[in-house]
Amino acid sequence: MSMVLRRMMMGLVAVAISLSVAATSPLSKTADTAAVAHSYSMADFTRVRKYDAHVHANNPNRAFLEQARADGFELLSINVDYPDFPSLERQHAIALTLAAKDPQHFHWATTFSMKGFGTPGWTERVNASLARDVAKGALAVKIWKNVGLVEKNADGKLIMLDDPGLAPVAGQVRALGVALIDHQGEPRNCWLPLDQMTTDNDREYFSEHPQYYMYLHPDQPSYEELMRERDRFVAAHPKLRFVGAHLASLEYDVDRIAAFLDRFPNTTVDMAARMSQVQYQSVRDREKVRNFFIRYQGRVLYGTDLTFAADADPAEFRREAHRVWSSDWRYLATGETQRVDMIDADVPGLALPRAVVDKIYYANAVRVFAAPRPVD
Ligand SMILES: [Zn+2]
Repeated sequence: MSMVLRRMMMGLVAVAISLSVAATSPLSKTADTAAVAHSYSMADFTRVRKYDAHVHANNPNRAFLEQARADGFELLSINVDYPDFPSLERQHAIALTLAAKDPQHFHWATTFSMKGFGTPGWTERVNASLARDVAKGALAVKIWKNVGLVEKNADGKLIMLDDPGLAPVAGQVRALGVALIDHQGEPRNCWLPLDQMTTDNDREYFSEHPQYYMYLHPDQPSYEELMRERDRFVAAHPKLRFVGAHLASLEYDVDRIAAFLDRFPNTTVDMAARMSQVQYQSVRDREKVRNFFIRYQGRVLYGTDLTFAADADPAEFRREAHRVWSSDWRYLATGETQRVDMIDADVPGLALPRAVVDKIYYANAVRVFAAPRPVD
């Protein structure tokens, strides 16, 4: 075969390959479109892979999973020692049931009870149960706000997150190679009178849960004290994969979240139940909030706190999940404006770049809640 002919044939093969790529690969199409428009639209909502890194499936009905699949979501359901939720045993059983039904879309985090903390055998019992749960598929361990606000030691004093008695549990979470999700304290609104709170959801929650409304309990730890306890704990465990739930309870100021993330490179934060706090800030300074997400695109996890209650109507819950997920997408991914009643404002979308949305909505969660990577 002559050189010329060979070159011509190679050229034809190259043309054929590029034609078939253009015709069949969604990747090349996405790249072309991305060059034209840097942000997604509502039409992209269903097809882009997403991960809700903070939900509570307290009902074994398939409705949650079905809506997640329909809207392009994977879920991380977090078990919590919360008196309003079903028992820890029940939450555990539901997680195993749903994970068995659809391990691609359903993931879960385990937790432990503080009952018996400080008594002989507690640490060993908890650490053994965490090892069993991770072996069964748990991708994280949750510590709830009862540490710091509710649980007391034998002396009647509140048990704080940096209590030496919790260090071996943190060590076990690190050794098992999973993430620790910590809900520390409350949003700052919780220490303010109702009329000074920034969002209606906080006004409602703390009116309905006076036991957690710190403004009514001046004898309880202050907001700043709880933040300091948490920071001491994170500093003491630099190898722990630490997730600050609810924007690490620093939701009121993106600058403060940024300072936390800068100080502790082993941390990420989830956005669960704090979107309106972010919107409250972006209505006042959209560029500042937008730049926060761009700068910390590798450190923020999308999450909602959607809770599928044991007695909820499945069809109604599906509608609610779809409404929340669509509204959040409209805000973070597109430039569309929407009415947000919780802050009584018209909120323009952030239209974050596609690459940023892909991380916040998916890649970060996949990295943080990966299969266990045990470390010493
Ligand atoms: Zn939650």
